[in-house]
Formats: sequence, structure tokens, C-alpha cells
Amino acid sequence: MTCEKLKTFLPDMVLDPARVPAEARQHLRECSSCENDWKELEATLRLLDSWQSPAPTPYFDTQLAARLREEKMSPAPGWLERMRMRLLFGSDLHLRPLMAGAFALLLVVSGGSYAGFVSFNRTVPQNPTVSATVTDLELLDANAQTLQQLAAFDDASVDGISATNANTSN
Ligand SMILES: [Zn+2]
Repeated sequence: MTCEKLKTFLPDMVLDPARVPAEARQHLRECSSCENDWKELEATLRLLDSWQSPAPTPYFDTQLAARLREEKMSPAPGWLERMRMRLLFGSDLHLRPLMAGAFALLLVVSGGSYAGFVSFNRTVPQNPTVSATVTDLELLDANAQTLQQLAAFDDASVDGISATNANTSN
């Protein structure tokens, strides 16, 4: 068996060893290069097994909906540009993944027009106007307020639960 042919058996070597012909196993014993490939594949898959996706925060959907509403209400032309600026220069770093998610979703919702992609891929806007910046700051402000309200609600409900627990334990 050639090394080339053995590579087609590598996934089965890891996932379903019973299906692998004896000559492939024989080749692995004799060829250290292929044996290495096999071990690396196995190690990679084992690493993937240990990976756990992070759980979303309790109010993720609500927060996402708030952002989507906000973007929907903003004037249609230029939102791509503003979103891009916010992703690039936004101060709240921890919100970036969320923004990116909302951005991806918006692309899908709005049909992801080819024209939109083209303007997104262009480099720096040629004439960023003052009014656009002001609008952006206002949007960010509204955004922060929504998040603060949600956070306050979150805290209040957690306090409420612990208070209830304290009451029942007494
Ligand atoms: Zn080989």
C-alpha cells in the first residue's frame, strides 16, 4: 500500500478502525510518516472533543433584538458603513462578538445584497460627514442605555432570587 492510498483510510483509522483493511494497518507499522499523520489526526479530534461552546448569557436574545431594532430604525443608506466604523473603533470591546453576530444576521435579514458587500469591502470612506458621526454617537448612547437597563434587570432578578432563598432558609 502506498502512502497516498493510506491517507484515504486515515479518518477510518480514528473513527471506525474495524473498517480499515489489514494492509493499511501493516503500512502504519512500517511507515513512520503515515503513523505521524494518524497520531496528529487523532490528537486533533480528541482536542475538538474537549472543546465546549460557551453558553449564551440569559438575555442574549433580548439584547440582540434590541440591537436589531435599533439598526432597523436607522436610515437605510450608510448603515453598513456605520456598523463597520463601530466594529473598528467601538470602545466596548466585549460587545464586538455580539456586534459581529448582529451584523451577520442583518446581512442575512436584508438579503445580503451584492452591492452591500462591495461597499463593505471598500476601504476608508472618502467623505465621512459630521452628521453621520453625531448620529452614530446618539445610537451608541441609546445602546448603552438599553444594556444598562438589561443589566439592572439582571442584577435585580439575581438579588430577588437570593433574597427569596434567604427567606426560605430562615
Ligand atoms: Zn506511508
